[in-house]
Amino acid sequence: MSRERPLVLDLDETLIHSQHDGVIRQMVRPGTPPDFILRVTIDRHPVRFFVHKRPHVDFFLDITSQWYELVVFTASMEIYGAAVADKLDNNRGILRRRFYRQHCTMDFGSFTKDLSAISRDLSIFILDNSPGAYRSYPDNAIPIKSWFSDPYDTALLNLLPVLDAPEVYQRCPVGAQSQPASSEQLVACCCW
Ligand SMILES: [Mg+2]
Repeated sequence: MSRERPLVLDLDETLIHSQHDGVIRQMVRPGTPPDFILRVTIDRHPVRFFVHKRPHVDFFLDITSQWYELVVFTASMEIYGAAVADKLDNNRGILRRRFYRQHCTMDFGSFTKDLSAISRDLSIFILDNSPGAYRSYPDNAIPIKSWFSDPYDTALLNLLPVLDAPEVYQRCPVGAQSQPASSEQLVACCCW
């Protein structure tokens, strides 16, 4: 597999979940400590983000960075997205290419990610919990369920066989149940 093939990764509810000061509706069980806290200034106001990493995200990044060029593409503001990406990268140099809200287009009330900004050759995968993000590129999409707090979530682990050998998996329309190319293949994820 060529490591030049881009794998586009969303951040929020795909790789991490975060809450900021003053959030009304907590998605994380009270008392659950964050993996890291970011202090970001937005509109001259200091804001703390309490960031929880999806289970197995470090291992997922370790492995997939050997197979793909990882590209962060978040609809969040750059000042926040860059800080999250820095933390996830952890000085490994595997999340160098990054795209933020300013690289998205607003479409039907949600942010859509323009994959042509990443590569003219659209042999790209995009892993994102929001279908609106890849509305223009359904053939490139790897859907993943939104993650908020489940400590037993294995969605990232389950995707590794698919990402290791995507050619053996039969593509289905987005939203349909995935089917492996042969009965011997494990169904590695629920929606690809
Ligand atoms: Mg997201």
